[in-house]
Amino acid sequence: MNDLRTFLDEIRRNDPQQLLTISEKTDKDYLPTGLALELEKRGKAPILLFEDLQGFGNMKLVANLFASRERMARSVGVQADDFFNKLSGCLDALLPAEHVSDGPVHEVIWLGSQADLTKLPIPRHFSEDAGPYITAGMVAARDPDTGVGNLAYARLQVKGPRLLGASLHSRQHLWDYFQRAQKAGKDLPVAVVIGAHPAVMLAAAAKMGMDEDEYDLAGALMGRPLELCRARTVDVNVPAHAEIVVEGCLLADTFEKEGPFGEYTGYATGRSTNNVLRVTAITMRESPIFVDIVPGNSSEHLILGGMSKQAWVHKRMKEALPFFMDFHYPPSGTHFHAFVRINKTAEGQPQQAAQLMFGLDHYLKLVIVVDSDINPASESDVLWAMATRMQADKDVAIIPNSLCNMLDPSSRDGVGAKMMVDATGSMKASFSRLTIPPETRQIVAQLLKGN
Ligand code: MN
Repeated sequence: MNDLRTFLDEIRRNDPQQLLTISEKTDKDYLPTGLALELEKRGKAPILLFEDLQGFGNMKLVANLFASRERMARSVGVQADDFFNKLSGCLDALLPAEHVSDGPVHEVIWLGSQADLTKLPIPRHFSEDAGPYITAGMVAARDPDTGVGNLAYARLQVKGPRLLGASLHSRQHLWDYFQRAQKAGKDLPVAVVIGAHPAVMLAAAAKMGMDEDEYDLAGALMGRPLELCRARTVDVNVPAHAEIVVEGCLLADTFEKEGPFGEYTGYATGRSTNNVLRVTAITMRESPIFVDIVPGNSSEHLILGGMSKQAWVHKRMKEALPFFMDFHYPPSGTHFHAFVRINKTAEGQPQQAAQLMFGLDHYLKLVIVVDSDINPASESDVLWAMATRMQADKDVAIIPNSLCNMLDPSSRDGVGAKMMVDATGSMKASFSRLTIPPETRQIVAQLLKGN
């Protein structure tokens, strides 16, 4: 079965150090964020499973599923290095979902006034947030004209037992559906899916065509069709094995302040489309698992949010530049920094690579280009390359007045500067690193076995 529970069982069985179970009685608020961020400082990224939440009976909470690139890749059956290729391949080979009459997602049904968001363990994440937030809520909806399905994340603020504030801040397909429904004077029926197989959560973060359904990408990523059933009070499909679904409508004529909320920049922001979602039903499995995506500039939020765009950029860099090897977006730079590794065969290539990166990804503010012997995923390696292979008067260039991301607090209304740094060695001089003889490295490995 391709659902969240099976995935967690597999992790527990095959890779138990990837799962940190908190069996003590704990509060739902601030702890998922607090624990994930402290572990991140210590270089650790386990899945967090809260088993005993004060006041929530047999409901559990899982956070930090996507805090590790390796785990994200393995959840769809590949190694981290192959993840971008896997995603690109699946985008070209969608696997249509399978419709079933019903599923475990309807084991428990709260209708009308029974539906109560305050009975779900929806946490507060940062002191600066306006309230508790559903951060892993995938909003399923259907195109008001064509009926094609869409699945996309929206941040959802709990405002009352049956009221959510929503920001459709990425202004993509869901935003477009809402605009068209609104123009026709209609509310947009939606179902918020919380907790599903990681492939579904990855698909919801992907960018696809307007006529394509994210559920079909989930199927391709899992290698078998995703089972869907109809929600109870709205004409929207939901995964039959989802943990929790909140059904309702995005209201056409009501707007209300939503936020502030801790965003990926590491700051709280009140920028929002200020939508309102009125809840009509909540359905769930027995003993449901509430899923939380750690927000702010956590690894999880940055990895999941950046994955789709980075795959797109990676593919185009590969196609355009034969000397391009790979890149890494360090979490410290939110989505604004990238370290690019090239196999340099001519002067000027680092500048070409950097300019193409800026052209493909307008969020980027800083691109540092390094040689093939530098690991772009290691910040200290990249800074060492800057320290020893770069002269600022000739290796740094600044492009002014460029489009950037609105959430960058230092930008002027979405316009800012780009900086490219050529931290590659000159073709003339020798830049070979110090090395340890291979025999000694073998001995070292033996001495450190088990450490
Ligand atoms: Mn879409």
